Amino acid sequence: MNSKKIIANLVFPNINETIADLEKRFPTRNLPDGAIVTRFAPSPTGFLHTGSLFTSLVSYRFAKQTNGVFFMRLEDTDQKREIKGSGDKVLEQLHIFGVVPDESDINPGKYGPYVQSERKEIYHAVIKEMLEKGLAYPCFCTHEELDDIRKFQEENKLLPGYYKEFAKCRRLTDGEVIEKIRNGESYVIRFKSQGNEDNKVDLFDAIRGHIQFPENIQDVVIMKSDQLPTYHFAHVVDDHFMRTTHVTRGEEWMASVPIHLELFKALDFELPTYCHFPVIMKLDDGKRRKLSKRKDAEASVDYFLEKGYPIEGFLEYLMTLANSNFEEWRIQNPNSDIFDFTLSFDKMSLDGALFDIEKINSISKERLAYMNKDIFTYNALEYAEQYSQELAEIINKDIDYFKSIINIERDQEKPRKDYEKYSDILGIVDFMYDEYYQTLFNSGLEFNERYDKMFLVDILEEYKNNAGLDLDQEGWFANMKQLAENRRFATRGKDFKKNPEAYVGTISDYAEILRVGICAKKNTPNFYEILKILGKERIEQRIEKTVSLLRG
Ligand code: GLU
Repeated sequence: MNSKKIIANLVFPNINETIADLEKRFPTRNLPDGAIVTRFAPSPTGFLHTGSLFTSLVSYRFAKQTNGVFFMRLEDTDQKREIKGSGDKVLEQLHIFGVVPDESDINPGKYGPYVQSERKEIYHAVIKEMLEKGLAYPCFCTHEELDDIRKFQEENKLLPGYYKEFAKCRRLTDGEVIEKIRNGESYVIRFKSQGNEDNKVDLFDAIRGHIQFPENIQDVVIMKSDQLPTYHFAHVVDDHFMRTTHVTRGEEWMASVPIHLELFKALDFELPTYCHFPVIMKLDDGKRRKLSKRKDAEASVDYFLEKGYPIEGFLEYLMTLANSNFEEWRIQNPNSDIFDFTLSFDKMSLDGALFDIEKINSISKERLAYMNKDIFTYNALEYAEQYSQELAEIINKDIDYFKSIINIERDQEKPRKDYEKYSDILGIVDFMYDEYYQTLFNSGLEFNERYDKMFLVDILEEYKNNAGLDLDQEGWFANMKQLAENRRFATRGKDFKKNPEAYVGTISDYAEILRVGICAKKNTPNFYEILKILGKERIEQRIEKTVSLLRG
């Protein structure tokens, strides 16, 4: 047996499969013309990053719009960083956003396993053949030896890494290698690079076009001492045998492209199309920086779920980040499903996409305003059941009553934009529920201090007997105006401005007195509708309570 074969058998005594066998086991996918295969490959580090939701959404849409396949592969080869259960959590969150993989660990297709730590035999089969062909070699360098190399390179301002003259295990004879393995020395497996830094390699990136890089010269580790692969190697093997056609990933991987190109070439695997997505940036003190999971709560998708941002609003926002022509399409197609929009690689921005919370807020407001009351209520309840017991209680107490409140100024051509997210609801509608009203009442009524208590009592009592609730909104308002005018409130802002001494205030001051007196709040949704829903009896009771408080 030749010595390379002996090494390969010592490293992997139980592996019999070859690369050719794997090619047969995982044949090219049978897909319609033009269909692309994309994947989302999260590391299980505990939560779904907002940037990852963006990447997965876009990858998913590219696959779907070509009748292709989108799958999820869990990249758990860094077992020190792994947080158990986070793969399931990520899948769950993707489902919430409607980004549902066609294949994943819980719904496997024929190209699995879909978790890297379960794919060891596949990596080992490929590495075994690489060892036999001399494309890879065991490296026995200790941490100390590697540290010494690094220090030397730093001191002499040389390119860091394990390459050429620094790659000392590359020069071990096969006999020495066999002996070291037999002696039980610990090792990793490195790729034996054939690159030359004076040569250039060409990459075609679907988003960025043609890019040139110097060739890779590093003998990168492909298998760690725990027998698990590194990212570089797993990416090449998995995306080949899982038959990914488009590698959609963040631009932070761009610098590693020369390594990947050389690995694909050495293994004679067809190169997939790379698509390096822009990283999501944030403005911080006027400077752009990466959205960071350490500094920014909004880097985690959890943040938006906990606050109750409407899913459709958040997805819509991510689509605006994805393609520069999405917003124009939206204006032309205001009622279409956002997934009717066709994404294209060449409309993706090249420099980091700027994350803009104001824009998320305004898109969310818009989506919530145009949502029909039943769907709004259903979504609000779903949110509340997970994140806000108090909100769930008020909705469940009387669902029709709740709907009537949130339906105020909703069903019309230009609905009112009261709610930005589901967590806003309670703070806006609380006074419509007597127990919350009581709490507001107890914490003090914020009447304008300009008005004397007895003046307020007079106004409120008069209103109690003459609220005009049997009139339509116009009639009701005319009635209120008349009452205000009788008490010397200006009903037109410009009259007041011209001659403020002639008045005690404006019609808004008058309405504020009524709002505070009846709702224990200065601001409410459409007051007429509020009064209609509260009804005569509750209005009277509340006014009486306020009056007796004012009388002391
Ligand atoms: N596990 C890698 C990451 O989370 C995946 C990169 C890729 O999509 O290839 O960054």
